[in-house]
Amino acid sequence: METSLKNNQIRVGSFFGIPVTFDFSWFLIVIVLAWILAVGYFPKEYKGWTEIQYWGVSIVTSVFFFLSVVLHEYGHSIVAKKYNYEVKGIKLFIFGGVSEIAVEPKNPKEEFLISIAGPVVSLLLGGIFYYAATAFNDKGMIYAFAHYLGWINIILGLFNLLPGFPLDGGRIFRAIVWGITKDYKKATHWSATAGRFIGFSLIFVGLMEMMAGFVTDGIWVALIGWFLESAAFAQLQQQELKKLLSGHKVADAYSRNYMLVPDDITILEFFDGNDFYKNRSFFFAENNGEITGVFTLQDLLNIPKSKWESVKISDVIIPISDTIKTTPDTPLVDALKIMDENSFNQLPVFENGKLIGVLSRKSLVAYLSQMNTHAKR
Ligand SMILES: [Zn+2]
Repeated sequence: METSLKNNQIRVGSFFGIPVTFDFSWFLIVIVLAWILAVGYFPKEYKGWTEIQYWGVSIVTSVFFFLSVVLHEYGHSIVAKKYNYEVKGIKLFIFGGVSEIAVEPKNPKEEFLISIAGPVVSLLLGGIFYYAATAFNDKGMIYAFAHYLGWINIILGLFNLLPGFPLDGGRIFRAIVWGITKDYKKATHWSATAGRFIGFSLIFVGLMEMMAGFVTDGIWVALIGWFLESAAFAQLQQQELKKLLSGHKVADAYSRNYMLVPDDITILEFFDGNDFYKNRSFFFAENNGEITGVFTLQDLLNIPKSKWESVKISDVIIPISDTIKTTPDTPLVDALKIMDENSFNQLPVFENGKLIGVLSRKSLVAYLSQMNTHAKR
């Protein structure tokens, strides 16, 4: 079943074959921006409008700002598609947008062009709005609208060019280092380290602003800094993990401990009188010894309680034929990547068409900690 409302996200539609989704946190930003413009920025810069005029211009400006961010992301996505990368979609959330490109960049040139496309769109939009503002240079409402959007798009373009991961500039920086040194890992490491530095610097600037009395601005700058720093740090950690896991296979880390649940019982029967769900959140459904599908505890909890008496396990499962599986001889790095890309916490392990166990984040951590103790000895 496909739903358009999942994990606080709204899918608004698909353009050029690229779906756009909003997180609810993004609406908050659009509303807060409209409010800041209507009660702060526009009344300070432009005198003598009515309340309705301030709010009208502010709402339109805020909506166009949000469209500008979408266009920035389309810049990345369209170039990525041109080079045959699968683009899963554009996602907008509290700190802006992301283009979800499924695979790692294949070479420095493509990474460079995909990364620079977003800031180029923003700077172009900035130029167009600025030019439009000069055409309406009467300090009226159209001028105010175009002037603000020109300014904000140029800031957006320049900020994203800062040379640290995960910003576009960080990817451009990585592409350049990668092109020169031919060493992707080293380039990623440098770019992520630069990203952490930029993140910490922004946190510092934010704190300074707060102390100087610009509390709201300061908090916002510090939050963006914190977001960048944690993303850069996560990238470094992921690289460490890859190094640690390289050469190891799913066979080393999967667990043979899994739970089979008859698929013809109801959800009520599942919870009543069975201890299926003790310490578990992932299950296989079976029928006469045949595995029919998989489901999680959350899948059951998503069904309204009033229906637990009538809905059967077989109604909620993902059929086993549609389930993404792995094999014992798959490299662990690849299996983990599949889990990350699909936000799965586990993957069924099949050998010669037969279920032999589950690779889960838990089993992976157990394996890693055991590897670590061996290393320390
Ligand atoms: Zn970008």
